[in-house]
Amino acid sequence: MAETFEEKMEAMKGLSEDEMAKKIQEVKETCKSFCGECPTYTGTGETELGFCATSKSKIIKDEKGCLCTSCPVTGMMSLRWEYYCTRGSGREQAAAGKQ
Ligand code: SF4
Ligand code: SF4
Repeated sequence: MAETFEEKMEAMKGLSEDEMAKKIQEVKETCKSFCGECPTYTGTGETELGFCATSKSKIIKDEKGCLCTSCPVTGMMSLRWEYYCTRGSGREQAAAGKQ
């Protein structure tokens, strides 16, 4: 069976701070083509990316459509949520008990 998000997060606990930072940077690079092009994001003045790995946006408030399910990071990390910019990172949504 495919690993869950929680199992993948657990497996990443052994990474060093540098390795983790590199991974988040890679997520942000991919994110440019999804969050960066999404109707919820464009025109808000937000410049941060990678909300699934970090946390909510401090700027974005209105949900107008989300492209996260098309983003390769979703499959890579077994993410099962969306609207990370307004609802919180994968870790936060998992901790909130959202299935
Ligand atoms: S998390 Fe979803 S809704 Fe938010 S900016 Fe990214 S693609 Fe758009
Ligand atoms: S899953 Fe969403 S928030 Fe995460 S990198 Fe992809 S588009 Fe960005």
